[in-house]
Amino acid sequence: MSETNNCTVIRQIKGQVTSDGAGVKICRLIGGAQLPDLDPFLLFDEFISDNPDEYIGGFPEHPHRGFETVTYMLAGRMRHEDNQGNKGILEPGSVQWMTAGKGIMHSEMPEQENGLMWGFQLWVNLPSKSKMTQPRYQDITPDEIPIDDKTDGVSIRVIAGDHNNLTGPITDITTAPLYLDISLEKGCSASVAIPTTHNRLLYCYSGALQIGDSTVEKGSLAILSNDTTLLMNSGRQSSSAIVIAGLPIGEPVVRYGPFVMNTHKEIRQAIYDAQNGLI
Ligand code: MN
Repeated sequence: MSETNNCTVIRQIKGQVTSDGAGVKICRLIGGAQLPDLDPFLLFDEFISDNPDEYIGGFPEHPHRGFETVTYMLAGRMRHEDNQGNKGILEPGSVQWMTAGKGIMHSEMPEQENGLMWGFQLWVNLPSKSKMTQPRYQDITPDEIPIDDKTDGVSIRVIAGDHNNLTGPITDITTAPLYLDISLEKGCSASVAIPTTHNRLLYCYSGALQIGDSTVEKGSLAILSNDTTLLMNSGRQSSSAIVIAGLPIGEPVVRYGPFVMNTHKEIRQAIYDAQNGLI
């Protein structure tokens, strides 16, 4: 911890461009070789493209077990559908927090044939005692997300956790996450309190932000020190960032594709169950 109690940037990571699903171009920020995980976060992808060839294949039917997937859309529309009868369309500004728990089989497909598709997918781990919980969805529409815009030139959407007496609509998540979407006009500063118990990151998706002595530019993910206050300044351009924090779980992580468990035996069981229609 620093003497000022202000977060500093420990490390910065540029994502790795790759593809997932049926040929969807993504930028992998967590979950690749550079940063396999940041407990409790297992994966963080940005997908941004206005070329349908890079997203139209979507993510056809696939299983999950043992963790949570969080989809947050900035632009475009995504249809989701699963084997439990849930379906819906994610619109710009909406979020879906899906606790896969003991398992779901679902698809995530673009609900558009052209135009910009832009969003994020985060994977949040579950502790051993919750991995085989019943699946649960929290589908949140844009107007359900409170916005802190009391400071001139600063707008903060509170998707999960607490910020400035606002509480995000996502509830009852084991890792007590904070998920904020922060936009600053040029020459503005914003301050965010983060519990020191939480691991945390900031991803700049537009412009550039100054944090302490570090500049975090568009496309960079910053791992932050566990201090109480995150201070950021936008400088000469308007800038936007996602800030995510969560309680670390501290258990062994064994992952295989869409399954994240504690042991290899549990992974073998997950594969067997998916192959035999038991998810
Ligand atoms: Mn999925």
